[in-house]
Amino acid sequence: MRIIRSVSEMQQTALALRAAGKRLGCVPTMGFLHAGHLSLVALARERSDVVTLTLFINPTQFGPQEDLAKYPRDFERDAGLCRDAGVDILFAPVAAEMYAAGASSYVTEEKLSTGLCGAARPGHFRGVCTVVAKLFNLCLPHVAVFGAKDAQQLRVIRRMTRDLNFPVAIVAGPTLREADGLAMSSRNTYLNADERRQALVLKRALDEAAHLFDAGERAAAPLKSAMEKIITSAPAAKMDYIAIVDDETLAPVERLERPALIALAVFIGQTRLIDNVVLRSSPVTPKVRP
Ligand code: AMP
Repeated sequence: MRIIRSVSEMQQTALALRAAGKRLGCVPTMGFLHAGHLSLVALARERSDVVTLTLFINPTQFGPQEDLAKYPRDFERDAGLCRDAGVDILFAPVAAEMYAAGASSYVTEEKLSTGLCGAARPGHFRGVCTVVAKLFNLCLPHVAVFGAKDAQQLRVIRRMTRDLNFPVAIVAGPTLREADGLAMSSRNTYLNADERRQALVLKRALDEAAHLFDAGERAAAPLKSAMEKIITSAPAAKMDYIAIVDDETLAPVERLERPALIALAVFIGQTRLIDNVVLRSSPVTPKVRP
């Protein structure tokens, strides 16, 4: 595995690989890797000849009150996991090189990024879109893999890629979970044992919504209040938002007639966790006459 720190070396390497006819796959991450990240590497591997994992804790997507400084880091451990997972290139640029002094150009998506986490974290998706656009320009991937766990991010990046004509296929990987259902996240390491137990309310709330939906409930309000009840049963939990939105437009829905995304963000103690589920009615199977 090759480790690249320099942005120009990354771009030159990607250009040379492309000229040699290689199909390039890219998995953008902020490091402190877990099995969820590595599952995305496996998806990239299936679809490309050379897999680059990018490790960059992107300052422009953190708000001033957020956890940039204390975001967990362990480069040696991450590099070992990448090696074992068959990553070909680990691209870990330093912030000073990614953002030249006085950088003043940004990428904004103006529709899908306004609600949900975008409303709770102003500027977050501008930072995400900007860094992903830059990583696309540096790694020149044919295919890039993102996790469904960051539901809004995935949809915003798909939209940006389409709108700006990046020649990159966006592939989504399913959310990997711990055995008890908690979505894997680098931020789970912030939780103490008690908070870790209470963090299960996110998945329990989503499961309850799915259960009510399966039982025929199509109104958003009762799903939301059932979820709120579960979340507020955890003393360490503080609701950021529960959103029930159209899966395509991310506009709030009152009834779940089309595929709907239920996304939530909850503080467990100081740690903000997110999770989501997509609910869609199963297609009606035509009755077969005897
Ligand atoms: P992060 O390092 O948190 O920025 O995440 C990097 C990528 O990994 C993003 O595309 C995330 O959506 C994805 N990811 C994070 N957690 C998981 C998970 N539990 N399962 C699958 N993908 C994930």
